[in-house]
Amino acid sequence: MTEEVRITIVGAGVVGCAIAYELSKDFNENIVVIEKNSQINGENQSSRNSGVIHAGIFYSKDFSPLKSKLCIEGNRLLYDFCEKNNVAFKKTGKLVIATENIELEYLDDVFKTANENGVEGIKYLDQDEIKRFEPNVSGIAALYVPSSGIVESTQLVTKLYKVAESNGVIFLTENELIDAEYKNSFFNITVKSRNLIEKFKTKILINSAGLYSDQIAKMLNKQLGLEIEPIKGDYAKFYCNKRPDIHLNGLNIYPVPFGYYPNGERAVIPFQQFLELFKQDKVTKSLGVHLSPTFDFSAYNPNSIYNPKSISNKSIGKELLFNYKNNTYNIGSTVLIGPAYSKPQNKEDYKNSRKEEYFYNMIKPFFPNIMLDDISIFQTGIRAKLKNLKDFVIEADSSMHGLINLIGIDSPGLTSSLAIAKYIRNVVKYII
Ligand SMILES: Cc1cc2nc3c(=O)[nH]c(=O)nc-3n(C[C@H](O)[C@H](O)[C@H](O)COP(=O)(O)OP(=O)(O)OC[C@H]3O[C@@H](n4cnc5c(N)ncnc54)[C@H](O)[C@@H]3O)c2cc1C
Repeated sequence: MTEEVRITIVGAGVVGCAIAYELSKDFNENIVVIEKNSQINGENQSSRNSGVIHAGIFYSKDFSPLKSKLCIEGNRLLYDFCEKNNVAFKKTGKLVIATENIELEYLDDVFKTANENGVEGIKYLDQDEIKRFEPNVSGIAALYVPSSGIVESTQLVTKLYKVAESNGVIFLTENELIDAEYKNSFFNITVKSRNLIEKFKTKILINSAGLYSDQIAKMLNKQLGLEIEPIKGDYAKFYCNKRPDIHLNGLNIYPVPFGYYPNGERAVIPFQQFLELFKQDKVTKSLGVHLSPTFDFSAYNPNSIYNPKSISNKSIGKELLFNYKNNTYNIGSTVLIGPAYSKPQNKEDYKNSRKEEYFYNMIKPFFPNIMLDDISIFQTGIRAKLKNLKDFVIEADSSMHGLINLIGIDSPGLTSSLAIAKYIRNVVKYII
């Protein structure tokens, strides 16, 4: 590696790869991405998520202005990128379901936030209208959100990385940043590269290290008051084909977001009371355990006639199914159930904590005919949530020219990734 790098990005999750992609479009600079994992496939947060393209209805301008802005912008950019770059996606629409009277005010708040954010096409649904969208889903009222969808997140990360690489960005896997120091207007970077320790200098350092972004920021500024408080999110699966009697039509089905106390117990309180506690950080708001369709696969056939829309994943022996009649990907044979949140032991605690019963109890109110046997435990993701803060932190450090920290990029970071990347591009243009 050259001793001096112009721009270094730490972390090749969806955000680091999106930034590399965006900067590679018109910066005639040398750009290096360092990634501690051995592959660039979104392991960590970027593939262990719901894969939901959020519409921007949950993040208010008052409490999380960056999430609100970047989610709305990211939603449009993501659909456009996927369409142009053959990444599997589908605009499925979403139902946000209220099942009890106490939830109606919470539902109104989602509607208000969506309107303030300028999300188009939202409609209130009554009990019968819910059934017209999803006959096997129940509620007393709901919101229909047309611009929500799903994306195959591993494909997205891989595509961003491949395009950036073909534009000249260098990706170094199995390279972990272990130390950083600011001296004479440069960052001196130390990386563990397999079994070797290597050092280089960089002019601009973009810290996009997900769960570890707080630790990297603190290597440079010990006074930094930000801390990632990781949250574990367990998933289960429901194989629809096993229960054709409770077929789902492929929308994202969410309960109404509700408050939760620090011990994980649901705060069953009127909305105004919740709002007071939320402002004081005494409760958190959770989108809840929801149902999201996933993309259908067939076994990968190396001898099949070339299909330009099918996306093969030889490593797992599967191929995404594309329906030429409808010009869309097949989805919904398997439905994700989750995330069920809990506190992990540490940032690497990927052991599943929630049993089938937990998922069952969470979804039963709006998906009443599901049975315990229909639920199979799946994977776990860990969110890089900031302690006592509700928004993303994306900032250039004024005391160290060239340092840009992205800390607490939790949900809706997948949806927002391309908007975050454009935001960073402007910051880089300004400081370069
Ligand atoms: C359970 C769950 C559900 C979610 N659901 C959704 C959803 O439906 N929709 C949505 O929009 N968002 C969702 N999110 C949020 C979204 O997944 C994240 O915001 C997004 O993936 C963050 O991407 P990232 O690149 O910042 O982080 P990551 O994907 O965590 O990537 C960070 C990278 O940095 C690397 N790294 C860390 N430390 C170092 C180091 N010292 N040196 C080198 N490399 C390092 C890591 O190996 C990793 O590859 C969800 C998140 C979780 C956990």
